[in-house]
Amino acid sequence: MPKIIAIDGPAGAGKSTVARQVAQRLGWHFLDSGALYRALSLAALEHGLQPTDGHHVAALGAQLDLRQGPDGRTYLGARDVSSAIRTEAVTAFASRASAQPEVRAALLGLQRAAARDADLVCEGRDMGSVVFPDAALKIFLDAQPQVRAGRRTLELAGQGGSVDAKAVQQDMEQRDHADSSRAVAPLQCAADQQPLDTTGMTVDEVVNRILELFAERLREGVARR
Ligand code: C5P
Repeated sequence: MPKIIAIDGPAGAGKSTVARQVAQRLGWHFLDSGALYRALSLAALEHGLQPTDGHHVAALGAQLDLRQGPDGRTYLGARDVSSAIRTEAVTAFASRASAQPEVRAALLGLQRAAARDADLVCEGRDMGSVVFPDAALKIFLDAQPQVRAGRRTLELAGQGGSVDAKAVQQDMEQRDHADSSRAVAPLQCAADQQPLDTTGMTVDEVVNRILELFAERLREGVARR
């Protein structure tokens, strides 16, 4: 049975960077579930759909060949959409569409398939609560809001273009609020998740801490997957 480490948390907590490195260190596969929501959102935007039209967005999702390659890049059929899914329009669409139960259901099978025959480190908002409730280790990664906004600003600046730090923080707060208050699969730190506040920690320190926690779980023999 493949093993799973599930990392959830708000925007800018460092989930992608950390999860990718944990996967590399263990030689496991990596799943960025947000990228799947984003890729479906990009396609929906291109089809002129509304984010609140969960039924049609989900139906589109069922027709698409949406995947993440072993290289960590995201594909819609043969098209590499890894950069195209990072625009503001896609970010805003994904935040709203992901609150629709049909959309979440449409992406569930795809996410679970990622752990069918490979050990997996995955990250998102509901990895430990909904997608992989029996994961060996469930982390809730967080950091102070200003720190998260600062990281996200740097990341966006690195992609080129001008970035307004205040606008980034406001946008992040709105998305976090939407993720935490939605009726289905809300973002929250559950009792069986290990909270990890990364404020003041380097990426290496966070990665090492997660590997330590995983080793502890294995020693305790409580890892189910
Ligand atoms: O993580 P990322 O910012 O790329 O995710 C894009 C959007 O997809 C988030 O704002 C969130 O609303 C949604 N999402 C989600 N559940 C996940 C991953 C992402 O609702 N597991």
